Amino acid sequence: MDHFLYRDGELHAEGVSLSCIAQQVGTPVYVYSAATLTRHFGLFRQALDWTDHLVCFAVKSNSNLAVLKLLGDLGAGMDVVSGGEYLRAKAAGVPGNRIVFSGVGKTVPEMRLAIEGGIRQFNIESEPEMRALSALCVSMGVTVPVAIRVNPDVDAKTHEKIATGKSENKFGIPISRAIAVYAEAARLPGLQVVGIDVHIGSQLTDLEPFRAAYAKVAQLTRALRAEGHAITRLDLGGGLGIPYQRDNSAPPLPLDYGQVIRETVGDLGCEIEIEPGRNIVGNAGVLLTEVIYVKAGEDRDFLIVDAAMNDLLRPAMYGAHHDIVPVIQPAVGAAVRPYDVVGPVCESGDTFRKGAELPEMAAGGLVAFRSAGAYGAVMASEYNSRPLVPEVLVQGDHFAVIRARPTYEDMLGRDSIPAWL
Ligand SMILES: *Cc1c(COP(=O)(O)O)cnc(C)c1O
Repeated sequence: MDHFLYRDGELHAEGVSLSCIAQQVGTPVYVYSAATLTRHFGLFRQALDWTDHLVCFAVKSNSNLAVLKLLGDLGAGMDVVSGGEYLRAKAAGVPGNRIVFSGVGKTVPEMRLAIEGGIRQFNIESEPEMRALSALCVSMGVTVPVAIRVNPDVDAKTHEKIATGKSENKFGIPISRAIAVYAEAARLPGLQVVGIDVHIGSQLTDLEPFRAAYAKVAQLTRALRAEGHAITRLDLGGGLGIPYQRDNSAPPLPLDYGQVIRETVGDLGCEIEIEPGRNIVGNAGVLLTEVIYVKAGEDRDFLIVDAAMNDLLRPAMYGAHHDIVPVIQPAVGAAVRPYDVVGPVCESGDTFRKGAELPEMAAGGLVAFRSAGAYGAVMASEYNSRPLVPEVLVQGDHFAVIRARPTYEDMLGRDSIPAWL
């Protein structure tokens, strides 16, 4: 459930009409609903209320400071994958002891920055990383909590670009070698082994891969404890999918997911961490765009909108589907017709959907791409020298611009021409 509904014939974000935002901020623009963010975060908490837990929001899915502040104030932890994300979490007021640092390629300066600012745990992804962190900790005279990310070799049955839990993926260490790697971790100075980390992929719409992976983690927990390791935390990653197509998909609910966690690792007495991103913020955002032209093609009509692949990359990158809806509510029984919805960028890949069924549209009309709150704004670029797409947060009857659209001067001002040219 989200808070983007038609009211008085127009699509609203909570109490604010999207036309009003388009008028005041311009398009394209991302619009997020605070009520939806709050609701989704609460569902994960509720799903784990049977145990000690920390819901760490995956910052990479939406790293706007206002979004992080809202979630952080609700008690969320943060899962970060870079020094920049770490600093965003801190700038949003999240204390270091609620931040976990994941990612296969943490650099020494990034690790140092997190140690200096305070960190809940590093999720280690390889032996060289483990050794580098140990050496850094020794040089700084500190000890940091670590979990080791294991790769359970489970097929997440999701898009190949977002599956991470098969042995062919670059993530984690093979679970078959975990005993040896944990033994080395325990010997290395500066590291305190506290847990196990796993994340098998994103947009999972079936609970069985989670069940299989978590059952392996439970087994490993017992084996490591038998070796004398104090395993007190399990970080079970993110990845629970969302309904991108409202009409015909119903992924499992956080409550069902929590039940799988309880059934697989619930008896181990560990504190549970999870790292949902998409499921919290995906359906809490839309990308609002205006029709520039309706162009009649030979065998089809094109809706050329002012958002493009640089603003919302998922369709071009993953072939992803976003429901496209008109902001003005069509009359009941109004005729629909197919449009190819495309952006202005000079690539054929800049196609949001072929044959989208929409009511008759005209230049100046507004449409919204739904489910765009996750992996939307964060993946945006200025390709084709299109200024970075702005973001708006709605709460009740008011809204605020939480990232302003850069001016052309801002954009050009970041380049410099060397004196010798
Ligand atoms: C991407 C990622 C997540 C979040 O995945 P979602 O599908 O957005 O829930 C969590 N943890 C790690 C390590 C990730 O790489």
